[in-house]
Amino acid sequence: MRFPCKCLLTGLGLAVLTVMLSAADVPAKVVIWKLDDLTAGEKRRVVPGFKRVADWADEKKTVITLGVICESLSKPNADDIAWIKKHAIENGGRVEFWLHGWDHKSWEEKGVKISEFKGTPVEHQTKHLTDSCELFTKTTGLIFHVFGSPYNQIDVHTPAAMDAVPALSIWMYGPKEDKQRTILPRSINMEIATGKVSYDAFMKAYQAKSQPAMMLLQGHCGMWDDKSFTDFTKIAAFLAQEGWVTKTCGQYVGK
Ligand SMILES: [Zn+2]
Repeated sequence: MRFPCKCLLTGLGLAVLTVMLSAADVPAKVVIWKLDDLTAGEKRRVVPGFKRVADWADEKKTVITLGVICESLSKPNADDIAWIKKHAIENGGRVEFWLHGWDHKSWEEKGVKISEFKGTPVEHQTKHLTDSCELFTKTTGLIFHVFGSPYNQIDVHTPAAMDAVPALSIWMYGPKEDKQRTILPRSINMEIATGKVSYDAFMKAYQAKSQPAMMLLQGHCGMWDDKSFTDFTKIAAFLAQEGWVTKTCGQYVGK
């Protein structure tokens, strides 16, 4: 009687071990929230939409990433800088702050659309990246590791400009030819227009085809109304239920 009993236990043990191993072998599905256009200056303060999502992240014990437009820090608002420091993941908070350009400008020259990192000289782009990084570190004590350009517009000069700032080792929606940095590609959208989230449209896109193992979902939470915010929280709840794990870019890349 002792042997079958022992065999049964061993069998059960193996079954448990097999389940544990297969769970560890399956790569986690990762979602990263790419939220753009944070300003923190006397002229352009942190708007309530960012605070609402940061509070949500605290409440849900999850993480978000916020893209900073750095010219706003030329005349920083002390309360807003304190808010950034308090929420920074480096300081025990739940927000990864990333570089979203110096001025986020776009204009037209002789009928051609130009933006901060598209159609501008390499010197212009380099200065905007280096000035942004220096000012962000000077005002907050933090270091940018991630870049995502305004309008997601870049050109052939942008990788060369980024070479001037080696700390920027992760590029949101960057060119896949760039082997110097980790490129995080674009996935489906949660906004149907800038600043307008749609749970229904997201679900349609999500269910239309199988998704990559990492989704980098862009939003403009400073512009969200109550409906957009609620739809965002519904998308987040759905993805959590589906087994998606929320990370920052740094956590995902392992930095
Ligand atoms: Zn933007």
